[in-house]
Amino acid sequence: MSDLNNKVNKSKVNKLNNLVPSIICFKTISMFYKSIEVSNININGPLYFLHDGPPYANGDLHIGHLLNRTMKDLIVRHAMLEGYNVHYMMGWDCHGLPIEQKAIQNLKTKNIEINFDSIRKESKEIANYYINAQQNQIQDGFFYKQPHFYTTKSFEYQNTILTSLFNLVKKCFISIENRPVYYSFEEKTNLALAEVEYAMIDYYSTFFLADIVNSELKIAIWTTQVWTIPGNELIIINKNHKYFIHNINGYDVISGENFAEKYNQHFKTKTLSNNKNISAEWILSQKYNIPLFGIFEKNIYHSDTVQQNLGTGITHIAPAHGFDDFIIYNNQYSGQMVKNCVDLEGYLIHPLLKEIKIGTQANQKIAQLLKDNNAIIYVEIGQHKNTVSWRSKKPVYIISTLQVTINLNIDDLRNICFNISDKVKIHANDNLSFVKSIMSRPLSWCISRQRAWGTPCMLIYNKKNYRILESEEINNYLLERVSSEGVDFWFDENERNKIFTLFNLDSNNYIAIVDILDVWFESGLTRTNLNKILQNQNIEYKNSKFVVCEGKDQERGWFQSLAILNYLLDEKTLAYNKLYTHGFVCTENGTKFSKSDSETQELNKIVLNETSPEIVRLMFVLQTYQNDVVVSKHILQYAEHCYKKIYNLSKYYINLHHYENNDIEHEVSQIDFYLRDKIKNYVDLYNKNIKNGHFSTAYKYGVELMISMSEFVTISKDILYCDLSTSGIFQSTLYTLKLFYQALVYIFYSTIPATILFLLNKKYPDLSTNQHYIDKISEYYKEITQENKHNIKISFTNIIKIQNEFLPILDYVKKTFDVGHNYELGLYYESDQEYCDIFKESLRRYLDISFVKEYQENEIVDMMAKKVLLDEKVIKLDSTFKIYIINISLLNIYSKCSRCWRYFQKEKHLNCKRCQQVEA
Ligand SMILES: [Zn+2]
Repeated sequence: MSDLNNKVNKSKVNKLNNLVPSIICFKTISMFYKSIEVSNININGPLYFLHDGPPYANGDLHIGHLLNRTMKDLIVRHAMLEGYNVHYMMGWDCHGLPIEQKAIQNLKTKNIEINFDSIRKESKEIANYYINAQQNQIQDGFFYKQPHFYTTKSFEYQNTILTSLFNLVKKCFISIENRPVYYSFEEKTNLALAEVEYAMIDYYSTFFLADIVNSELKIAIWTTQVWTIPGNELIIINKNHKYFIHNINGYDVISGENFAEKYNQHFKTKTLSNNKNISAEWILSQKYNIPLFGIFEKNIYHSDTVQQNLGTGITHIAPAHGFDDFIIYNNQYSGQMVKNCVDLEGYLIHPLLKEIKIGTQANQKIAQLLKDNNAIIYVEIGQHKNTVSWRSKKPVYIISTLQVTINLNIDDLRNICFNISDKVKIHANDNLSFVKSIMSRPLSWCISRQRAWGTPCMLIYNKKNYRILESEEINNYLLERVSSEGVDFWFDENERNKIFTLFNLDSNNYIAIVDILDVWFESGLTRTNLNKILQNQNIEYKNSKFVVCEGKDQERGWFQSLAILNYLLDEKTLAYNKLYTHGFVCTENGTKFSKSDSETQELNKIVLNETSPEIVRLMFVLQTYQNDVVVSKHILQYAEHCYKKIYNLSKYYINLHHYENNDIEHEVSQIDFYLRDKIKNYVDLYNKNIKNGHFSTAYKYGVELMISMSEFVTISKDILYCDLSTSGIFQSTLYTLKLFYQALVYIFYSTIPATILFLLNKKYPDLSTNQHYIDKISEYYKEITQENKHNIKISFTNIIKIQNEFLPILDYVKKTFDVGHNYELGLYYESDQEYCDIFKESLRRYLDISFVKEYQENEIVDMMAKKVLLDEKVIKLDSTFKIYIINISLLNIYSKCSRCWRYFQKEKHLNCKRCQQVEA
């Protein structure tokens, strides 16, 4: 007799779910994670690369990093399971404004003089400190430390950046021009599209007058950017619209069709009506003056962009201060330099506006000046969405400065989005908005920044024609120096002079640019850098998989710069074939995690310091990552509950599995057939959803599988504890348990790898064997005839139905009739249906009672019914199906088996037939 059968103790099984697993600590986890990395890459499989986007090296790891890292780790592990030769390249984006601002703060505290050199030195220290700190935090907690990683400040990466810049110059994509850019007077720099967001800001919808040259007529112009009026260069109308002459303030004024109504509404009068028509052709042949600001004899042009219902139907254009304005101006005066009406400190340049600062002050002053000159019709003050800095939340203005730009208005680059949606599998919450945001990019991309901490834009240009000097010789010289000593020499004026002398360049004709490059330009070259590494190792990578996964904020940032630069540099190829975007971490109330919020900091602490990383990972994957992911104590508890269940169920199987005997012919019961089919379905559904990027749906099936396994353990405990371990029914039950366990390992391996490996005795799960078991499931199912399959399906639908109705009845019976154990109950059914006979035993196991019998005439139930028959509790399954529950412990013809506690019809033995056999 086996050990197990000696330890018949049912209460032990009932305690199963209360066991507390030894939750694996942080330190051990990284060891496990590392072991996977080294030993489990299928080196013969197709290549698969996941490369990091730009995590900034400017702070400690927080909960948001964990979500991102979990996602990436999960994707990588799934790829490994699919047999890919997987490479995950970590990286750090080291440059940029956040570190520079931190450096300036530090210098102030240390009382060190602030200049570009000291800022760079301090920034470098900060970046190094955090790269080191974050790596250690990674190793201590959630992920294995990568042997290879890139930083954008390494000499090697700087070489990639400058090689790419020179290549773009060679391909004629780069130019130097005075052009509008987003500019923050607060941060004293221009900003990338991704650094700009929208907020409600006061605006002055201003209707003002200009004079038509050589005519008594005036023209009504509209703008919302009053401060840009001194920068006016032209006005536009739409020749397809109707224009009229109205008498306003004693003047004959030209305006569009809808203006009269607007005017009447504003002044609550009926003064204006559209009687006197004037042709658009005539207006287009005229010139205008705004004498107040010295704007004389400017032209009027047509543009389809003018909308009839906006303003006066005649729009003010200041090309230095609007992207669309710049394009319209450029169409007419291509190559002309545009002029700002504001300086880089934010003060207006016009003599009438001395010491007036951009913003409300400028708007009010200009409106007042126009009013004093009878040139204002009216001003409407309201609020509209306008640009603010992503960091300071202060307004961002469009001004023109001399910048290095990449022309994006080239052949089919603008159609890159179509390529992306066709050829890239996008797992984003809203594919459409992602594609749209690419379409809405400005026609050129300004890549220069007037800051200190970054890679300098090492270009030299001609002062007169702004042409970039192209010299292979100088480029090679610079690249060689960068590879051996980094980029710092370029910031040193003496060094630059030496280079000018070395290459016979006259500083009267040429200027070296010391602006640094946009960080998005740097991080947009991660794929180019990866290509370089692969080329150096002679690795053929053209048909490999390239995957990226970052937060949804990168839809406007890195995903785009990466796509654009790779497209321009690498023969129009796509930088990635698969793209995942995830939401941010928030609380149950939707509050974002921040350093200033105490509630979120408390949660941050719990997650990072007091919770097993595996539970945190489980918490993340059980939610839809494309939306914001909620972190709360409640959700952590749920994840912990799931975790313990997975752990305990696995442990339970592992403790039993040595009873496995493959020589025994299984008596595959209906329950086994039914559940094996169910396991297969769960695995199929899981695989399908993982493939489609629906992780949370996939893991919901994992949780359902776990619940089914848990139920199976409950209904099988009688067999596992009381039947002979060498019997067919025991072996069949054990085998079903094994299939459950294999499926659980397969599904949760990517989420809680350390736990799974721990359970598997620290060995990497042999997933080919696992697949073998999963295939077996369908084999077993094939052995059943179609008819039986049909019957089994009906049976189980009914069994589940009965079970659902039975459980509350069981509670009722136990309370009302003082029934101690399910085994004190028996069940009789009445039915016309033949299939009932098939599911008798399955139903008994599901209900965990002593017997299920068909009711026969003369059956004792008649005799005893009055005692305990629960007439009012008859379960009606169909018109002919009835169930009677009786308390058999009260019937003296039954007795309780001393071994298994099930009731059996009385005979001379103390134990039931089965237990007698087992003990024999
Ligand atoms: Zn027994």
